[in-house]
Amino acid sequence: MDARFRGDEHLRRVLEVASRILREGRVKCLSGRPEDALVEEALAMLGCRVPRCGEAPAECSLEELGFYEDVSPSTLRVFNSTEELLYKNWPTPLVRLNSLGDGKVRAWAKLEFFNPFSMSVKDRIGWYMVKKLLEKHPGASLALYEATSTNTGMALAAMGAIKGFRVKLFLPETIQKASDTLLSVMGAEVRRVPKSLTVEFIDDVEHLAKEEGGVHLNQFENDANFGVHLRYTAKELDLQVRSAKLNLRGIVGGLGTSGHLSALSLYFKSRYSDVKIYGVQPAPGTVIPGIRRVETGMKWVHYVSVDKVVDVTPEEAVAHAVKVARREGILVGLSSGAVTAAFEALYSGGELPEGDYVLVYPDHGFKYVEQFSKYLPIIHQR
Ligand code: PLP
Repeated sequence: MDARFRGDEHLRRVLEVASRILREGRVKCLSGRPEDALVEEALAMLGCRVPRCGEAPAECSLEELGFYEDVSPSTLRVFNSTEELLYKNWPTPLVRLNSLGDGKVRAWAKLEFFNPFSMSVKDRIGWYMVKKLLEKHPGASLALYEATSTNTGMALAAMGAIKGFRVKLFLPETIQKASDTLLSVMGAEVRRVPKSLTVEFIDDVEHLAKEEGGVHLNQFENDANFGVHLRYTAKELDLQVRSAKLNLRGIVGGLGTSGHLSALSLYFKSRYSDVKIYGVQPAPGTVIPGIRRVETGMKWVHYVSVDKVVDVTPEEAVAHAVKVARREGILVGLSSGAVTAAFEALYSGGELPEGDYVLVYPDHGFKYVEQFSKYLPIIHQR
C-alpha cells in the first residue's frame, strides 16, 4: 500500500524548488526557459506572482511577489458568502496552553476547529480540492465521491451545498455512528464500508466514481491537500509565530493523509534553522479517528523530513482530550488528545529543548461522544 505514494519524481523536484525559494526568500526574474517551469510551479504552490524579466526587477523578495497576501485576515469579520467565511477568516487561532509544559517549554495550540464547515482542519482541503477542480472545469455540474472518516466528508458536503454538487461519501465501519446523521443533514449520501481504515478502499471509490460518472477527489493523493496547507496553514502560522515573537522549536501534529504536517515540515524546515517536526500515529493495532500509522500508506510524509513519530493509544488520546477540557476549558477531538499525549511524553522524557511548541489540534470534541462515553469510565477507574 505504501509504495503507491512514494514515486512522484516531478512532485519531489517541485518541492525541492519550493523549499529553496522559502529558504532564500528571494526569486530571480524568469525569462521563459524550460527550467523556469519548475520555479513557476513552485511559486504558484506558494501563492506568489511570477516575476517575469522585463516586467519585474532582476530579483524580487517573496513579499514583493505577494507571498503574505493570501493570509491577511478580514478584521471586521464581514463575509459575502459562507465560502468566504472559510478562507477569509484565517488564520485560525493560536493559543498558549498554560496547563502544559512550563515557563521554559511552552505549548501553543493551533485550533483548527475554528473552521466553519466540519469544525476541522479538513475544511481547508475540501475547499481547495474543489477550487482546483473548478479551475480545470469551470461551471461544471459535478458529483463528488470521497472516502472519509467524517471531517473531509463534512467539508465536501458543505462545498457541495455551496456549489450545487451531489456528494457521495464512504465511511469505514469503525467511525462513530453519529457521522451518518451529521453528513446526511448536510445533504451528502453516505455509505458504510466494512473496513477499518479509509485508505483501504480508495481504489473501490475510484472505480465507482468512474462507473457512475462522478469525480473522486482523493484526499490521499490529491496535491491540493498538501498545497493548501503549504500556501495557507503554514504561512499563517509563520505570521502568528513571528508576531508573537515565539522561539519556535517544534511542531507536533497527527498523521492522517499526512497533508498538514508534511506541508508544515517543508515550510518550517526551509524558513527556520532548527524546528523539529513530531508526527503522531495510533499505537499498533489501535484506532484513533483521523490519524493512522505511517505504514498504512500516506503520500507527502515521504517527500519531507519528520524528526520523530510518536505512538499514542486511544486511552491516552481520550485521557489527554479530557485533561485539556478540564484544565483549559476547550473540548477537543481525539486526535488533538493524541497530539497532546505525544507532547507530554516528549516533554516528560526531557526531549524538548527550551522554547515554543505548536500543537496542531485538528478538530472539536463534539463528534466523539461515543468514544468519550466508552473510555471515560476506564479513565476514571485509574
Ligand atoms: N485529525 C483528524 C480529526 C482528522 O480528521 C485528520 C484527517 O483526516 C487528521 C487528524 C490528520 O490530518 P492529515 O490528513 O492532514 O494528516
